[in-house]
Amino acid sequence: MKLKGIAIVSSKVFGEIFILDKTKDLKNDIKIEDIENLFESYIAYLLEEINGMDEKYRDYINFYIGILRSKSFIQMIKNKDKNLLKSISLAIDEISNKFSLENEHYKDISVELRFFKNELLDFIAGKLEKENFKEGTILVAKNLTIRQSLKAVKSNIKGVVLETSALTSHPILVLKDKGIPTIIGVENVVEIAKNYKYALIDNDHVEFTNENIEIIEKPVFISFEENCFKTKDGIPIKIQINIDFPEEVEKVKNFDIGLFRTEYLYLNGIISRNEQKDIYEEMSYKVYPKILTIRLFDLGGDKVPISVEDPNIRGIRYLLYYNRELLNKQISAIKLANKLKNIKVLIPMVSSIEEVVEIKKLLEDIEIGIMIETPASALITDRFKKIVNFFSLGTNDLSQYTLAINRNDISFQQFHPSVFRLIYYSFSKSKPKPFSVCGDMGSNDIGLIALISFGIRIFSIPISYLNRAKEIIEKLDKNVLSEISRKIITAYRQEEIIKCLKFYLDSL
Ligand code: PEP
Ligand code: MG
Repeated sequence: MKLKGIAIVSSKVFGEIFILDKTKDLKNDIKIEDIENLFESYIAYLLEEINGMDEKYRDYINFYIGILRSKSFIQMIKNKDKNLLKSISLAIDEISNKFSLENEHYKDISVELRFFKNELLDFIAGKLEKENFKEGTILVAKNLTIRQSLKAVKSNIKGVVLETSALTSHPILVLKDKGIPTIIGVENVVEIAKNYKYALIDNDHVEFTNENIEIIEKPVFISFEENCFKTKDGIPIKIQINIDFPEEVEKVKNFDIGLFRTEYLYLNGIISRNEQKDIYEEMSYKVYPKILTIRLFDLGGDKVPISVEDPNIRGIRYLLYYNRELLNKQISAIKLANKLKNIKVLIPMVSSIEEVVEIKKLLEDIEIGIMIETPASALITDRFKKIVNFFSLGTNDLSQYTLAINRNDISFQQFHPSVFRLIYYSFSKSKPKPFSVCGDMGSNDIGLIALISFGIRIFSIPISYLNRAKEIIEKLDKNVLSEISRKIITAYRQEEIIKCLKFYLDSL
């Protein structure tokens, strides 16, 4: 039985199946006076589970601990309903709704919070058993909580197959980060897996079988010396790395960091100038002599709501016009941290020249680039070219704002002819300034091929896509590429583009 999903970490591994499948009824007679004690016991339980793991994973857990210990959360529960479990559930839903956004990262927090809620309620109802994951197995589940994901790492789980499709949720990021072969979005996988003993994960497929077969497993992380992969006919494609957490800089040597999303610092409460400065400085020393590209906080609007009263705008406009103090702290931290002069700054959600001029004044001699992720910026790339040092294409937002569709919507596709036209246009107007891609299209097999066919030569991708990117790039050549770009530009429909790209991918 072979099923397809979305590969988070592409690899090939085989092992016995371990199914995580729990559905429980909840007890209903818990009293409000017990709530703080119950939360403390749950926190102790969480901490025990992650005991011995990297300090940074404690940060993930701290996010939830922060919620459980917050006075306003307790108050919210007290105000909700007489039934305590229902109150907790409603209060977490309320927080979760605040994160229920159109950006993949923060929308995923909302999904995660719901799983966290289920586990917390199970714990309170006395129904949370300790799962002992079996080492070396392939874990199959509907979804994982952050605790279960950390536990999977600790238990040396060989691979993970999930029904969920929360692409960049914390539990998934942990697996990605640790290079555990993972497939998500596999429909009904828990029920199906119950009929089998073994699973073979092969990139985006999982195959269930009752026979123990021998395969040659593929390592996930290869240590690369080169940061430039060449096509079959020698076209150099420069590779940079996208990171979400400061520690990730240690994983790769010799690569520029093309995108450091600082929103996670913000979410973890790292806001003060000095804390930020220490982190940026340490990262810049670790990356040196390569470049560290720090993207200013992409907050506000529908991405990371700061508070309910906040206006529905995000990125640079939020910082400039609604939270100047936060902007000043971040800029000053970056300036102080840039002792080695290897830091560049990337501005998120730019749409107007004034925004860039304003930031440029504040940053003085630090190089700045802008994200091309709004149709507005794509259409006036030639104007921006005069004032910025580089461009970075954010295909995730560019697609959603071009197509007027939430990027988490099931029907969301980023291969629409209009998106490609905008990309093509923007790229052609960007020369001679460097133009890289840090959006997901560049770490998607067919997206990567399409963008290379347009002539784009710099890609900032997650570490776990390095292998695959190298594999694809080395099979491409000029003839195939020019045919692909012609077909994309002349296509009428998204389906034609996807079909054509898949055809080329399969024939490589
Ligand atoms: C993008 O929009 O493509 C991008 C890289 O930014 P983010 O996904 O962080 O919004
Ligand atoms: Mg974006």
